[in-house]
Amino acid sequence: METNWSPEQSSGLYGINTWGQGYFKVNEKGNVSIFPSPNGTAQVDLLELTQDLLDRGIRVPIMIRFTDILKSRIELINDCFQKAINDHNYKGIYQGVYPIKVNQQHLLVEELVRYGEKYRLGLECGSKPELLVVLALMNTKEALIICNGFKDVEYIETAMLSQKLGRNTIIVVDRYEELGMIIQISKKINAKPKIGFRAKLNTQGAGKWVDSSGARSKFGLTSMEIVEGVEILKKEGMIDCLELLHYHVGSQIPVIQNVKSSLKEGARFFTELYEMGATGLKYIDVGGGLGVDYDGTGQSDSSINYSEQEYANDIISGLQALCDEKKIPHPNVVTESGRFLVAHHSILVFNVTGVNNLYRYALPRVITKEDPQILQELQYIFEKINIDNLNECYNDLIQLKQESLQLFIYGVLSLKHRADAESMYWAIATKMINFASQNMAEFEDIYNHLQQEICATYFCNFSVFQSVPDSWAVGQIFPVMPIHRLEEKPTQIATLADLTCDSDGKIEKFIDIENGGYKKTIQVHDFKEGQQYYIGVFLTGAYQEILGDLHNLFGDTDAVHVSLTESGGYIIDQYVPGDTVTEVLSYVQFHRGQLIEKVRQATEESISKGIISKQDAKLLLKHYEEGLSGYTYLEEAE
Ligand SMILES: *Cc1c(COP(=O)(O)O)cnc(C)c1O
Repeated sequence: METNWSPEQSSGLYGINTWGQGYFKVNEKGNVSIFPSPNGTAQVDLLELTQDLLDRGIRVPIMIRFTDILKSRIELINDCFQKAINDHNYKGIYQGVYPIKVNQQHLLVEELVRYGEKYRLGLECGSKPELLVVLALMNTKEALIICNGFKDVEYIETAMLSQKLGRNTIIVVDRYEELGMIIQISKKINAKPKIGFRAKLNTQGAGKWVDSSGARSKFGLTSMEIVEGVEILKKEGMIDCLELLHYHVGSQIPVIQNVKSSLKEGARFFTELYEMGATGLKYIDVGGGLGVDYDGTGQSDSSINYSEQEYANDIISGLQALCDEKKIPHPNVVTESGRFLVAHHSILVFNVTGVNNLYRYALPRVITKEDPQILQELQYIFEKINIDNLNECYNDLIQLKQESLQLFIYGVLSLKHRADAESMYWAIATKMINFASQNMAEFEDIYNHLQQEICATYFCNFSVFQSVPDSWAVGQIFPVMPIHRLEEKPTQIATLADLTCDSDGKIEKFIDIENGGYKKTIQVHDFKEGQQYYIGVFLTGAYQEILGDLHNLFGDTDAVHVSLTESGGYIIDQYVPGDTVTEVLSYVQFHRGQLIEKVRQATEESISKGIISKQDAKLLLKHYEEGLSGYTYLEEAE
């Protein structure tokens, strides 16, 4: 073990003190610690927690959710808006809603409602099924239920009737046709709806989700439709039903300038509507988009260049300036921040199951005069290589590699000799990397090329498609790091491959603290057979779980909800077992009973032909049934 290394150096290498936001740090034992409230002292050692969960029979990969982090996020955004409101002597109040599409887990939504009660935190739904969830769970007085998304008669009627349960439901007109439906239904059931208009802004968001806004976005009313909508509402005597103006310019807005410019345009819609006679307007809903700093750089699409306080300040001060100028009452401010509230609270922990490592420190054997010429040449390079002839040797090496493959194809080189050549190539490359690293200014290209080829693959017990789909789908960066051994220098450079047989099933974007961008490999510790090595993917609470899919039939992972106790410990509030193989198979219409019966019939046939003994048949069926009841991921042998 290297001695000149410290947990602090690991913190620097993985950038945990920037993206960790005070929730995650490296402790003096060299493990990752969770600080559920970033200003507090209470902490949970993530390695010890993981081992504790394994002792209870909970399995890796595990999704660990920290309830206290949720609470902290709700407090944080509310405190920021309250401070901005106080500082600017703003007259409206702040009232967030959580869009449940970001993560609809039952317990999570319940916890958000419970912790959010004192802040009147409401819920937003974007579809009929989500509306049904929201209606059942939302009972905070004065909290809003915001209805977005595609709507049919049933959606609108249900939303409108919920007002008669005392729910504060606002139906947002996302497409122009919905306005006519709302008016008709209100007459039919004799209800006075609360209506919102979603404006299609010309100002666009930025980053990966920029298409949510702009003239061609899927949702929202054009200025023409808004003007006509106001006329219709007036004609129907319903203009006082228009209570809210909404816009949403896309998720994860990386730069504050886009927050400011969309607010400017959105606030103008608000004051114009008010002046056109929509004096019942009392909310402006600025949508989601408040970003999360996934990589700590402050300058990429996976990062943000502003704080939550600046976000709140810019919205409140922008509204105040415009409303005061137009002498219009300050509206209450609604945000639909989802990612911001839930991203930090979940961590995925998985184990490494094996390593494919190509570093070689010696030649496979001594090459003699009897061996093919090409092997003699490779041996010569291996022996003469040094820092002064590195360029020349590197060019020769690349040349010889090509030649050896050609000679094999033409039948000149045997498979055994090809294997020798291959392993000599890795030995030379290993030596070259070592020399190149001594003078990176000159040999960076050589270093990068060989390192890329030779770096280890760590095989990891999880599925990217199920647990971090945005890493694959949109190339988003997530913080990834070992959760222990951080007092030890990570000597290996690796890529992380998942369990799927898909060549896209890997994480290949890692935070690059030194250069600000991202890199394709991560530094990890050497993998020791017989010792567990755990890696964590952080900030996975938003979108990942629900977007995750069953590629290769890897199902939901085990999940636990953990909260801190007064005495400084923690309790497991809930264990949500991951999918069994039987459950996953039933999604594609394979049913347990039928499968077992088919295999049983096959064993009967073989027993009668004498190919299998009754004992072996019994054992096979036992394994088959156990397999169906088991976890979809790799399990430790009992
Ligand atoms: C998805 C969505 C949100 C949530 O956005 P975040 O960036 O996660 O805060 C809010 N509002 C609408 C209309 C959405 O579609």
